[in-house]
Amino acid sequence: MRNEAQLRDVFNSTFDALPPDVRSRIEDLWHRNGVSREDNGSGRFIPPIFREPTILNRTLHPRQVPPWVGPTSSASQIINAGQHAAEVFERSRGICGQTDGIVFRFKASVVDQAPDEMLKIVIAHELAHTYRAAEVGLPFPEAALALGTSEDEEEQAAIALQAEWGFEQGPLLQWLQANEAALGI
Ligand SMILES: [Zn+2]
Repeated sequence: MRNEAQLRDVFNSTFDALPPDVRSRIEDLWHRNGVSREDNGSGRFIPPIFREPTILNRTLHPRQVPPWVGPTSSASQIINAGQHAAEVFERSRGICGQTDGIVFRFKASVVDQAPDEMLKIVIAHELAHTYRAAEVGLPFPEAALALGTSEDEEEQAAIALQAEWGFEQGPLLQWLQANEAALGI
């Protein structure tokens, strides 16, 4: 069981392992979107991080909540967007985290059960989306429009980026697959 403070510790150590230019670009995005620096002397930017006890949005497919599917104006649009994203994420063995680049949420069962090395991969994946948002200076879903990518392309780009940083997705997928019953994914 990890509480939010423990989740933040793993988040911070993952962030600290990223290349300096990546960190500064992400911090620039956070800074320009109202995330503030911690005043305890660390000077660190503190993005909102949540450990969700359940799936974030119950109107969507229970496997995931895609934040970048775009503005929706009706329940049916939301459900359709969720179903589409479910097809995309079926190949990713379930959703463990979510970010628009500014706010981070992580699936509670993964936060509770994942060893540090696996949780760091989950976090690095969300930071890869964040870095791509930072490239265009906008949070998702606006970032996806600016980048001109589909959800599938966005996923592949994030997976490639996190691998460059030393957080290969493969071991996480294997761990998720071996533990999917316990994780509820
Ligand atoms: Zn992703």
